[in-house]
Amino acid sequence: MEKLTREFVAGLPKAELHVHIEGTLEPELEFACAKRNHIDIGAKSPADVDHSYGYGLTEFLKAYYNGMKVLRTKQDFYDVTWAFLQKMAQNNVKHLELFFDPQAHTSRGIAFETVIEGIHEAIVDGRALGVDTQLIMCFLREFSKESARQTLEAARPYHEKGWIIGVGLDSAEHHNPPLKFMLIFAEAKKQGYYLTMHCDPKQVDSVEHIKQALEIIEVDRLDHGMNIIENPDLMAYLVEEKIGITACPIAYYYTRQDMEEKAITTLFKEGALISLNSDDPSYKGGNYINDVYYQFAQKVGWGREELIQIAKNSFTTSWISDNAKKAYLQQIDDYVAKN
Ligand SMILES: [Zn+2]
Repeated sequence: MEKLTREFVAGLPKAELHVHIEGTLEPELEFACAKRNHIDIGAKSPADVDHSYGYGLTEFLKAYYNGMKVLRTKQDFYDVTWAFLQKMAQNNVKHLELFFDPQAHTSRGIAFETVIEGIHEAIVDGRALGVDTQLIMCFLREFSKESARQTLEAARPYHEKGWIIGVGLDSAEHHNPPLKFMLIFAEAKKQGYYLTMHCDPKQVDSVEHIKQALEIIEVDRLDHGMNIIENPDLMAYLVEEKIGITACPIAYYYTRQDMEEKAITTLFKEGALISLNSDDPSYKGGNYINDVYYQFAQKVGWGREELIQIAKNSFTTSWISDNAKKAYLQQIDDYVAKN
């Protein structure tokens, strides 16, 4: 087996399918936005901006929602997206399916238009960096169904323009199962959106939530869903139906000090179309996708072979045309042949 190097990982063409734009807000930009929007975040310099939160999903979410409060104008949303797209280009990410959480902003009095127009403008400019980006709008699961319905309505003109291709579901999972949003997701599907959903690891009723997402909501992809390995029948279904599953090992490490190594390697061995992703890099030790690939491989003893397959899975399970997939898979083969 050839030795895996950081250099090899860095050059490998890849897609990122699970990352929240709000979770990419780095301390420098957070500080700058706070300053220009006259928001006191209790920091005298970017070095004072504290993204630590102890452990657990609830604790992480608190820090996450606190950080994004500085995003208020179209320029702010442009800047956070642009900064991230530059990072993606450096990480040799060719295709990005990016989450955003509109309700986390509209609930603070920011217009939906402000959010989407800022993000979209950066996405258009990002094409010059060689990063092709699509947007996935996530509903916050602790918010009401009515709020999700209004958000879907607000998104309609942008979806029709092709600015948003999918809907997802994230945030506080306890007592907010996939079924709560069954009708919203059915409506989104009717409108032509792709569907995905977070099923965070080790939640109350994790396996039941995964089952609902796969069998009732009929998601096109599953985010996290690591507890599926507890139900071999459900795992076999995921594999058979070729439903993509996005794992974020470094993010797990930062919220619970384990990388879900067993789940990820089991899914991989069973032939699931699993990809590795960064989730909220600015809150996960500043680890972007290349760090995620490399560190996880180091942890479980994976070499080039496995990471090549992971990169292939990322394109195979992305929401691009078959021709585009073929072209990206060819880029991987060409890269491997040359290296
Ligand atoms: Zn996530």
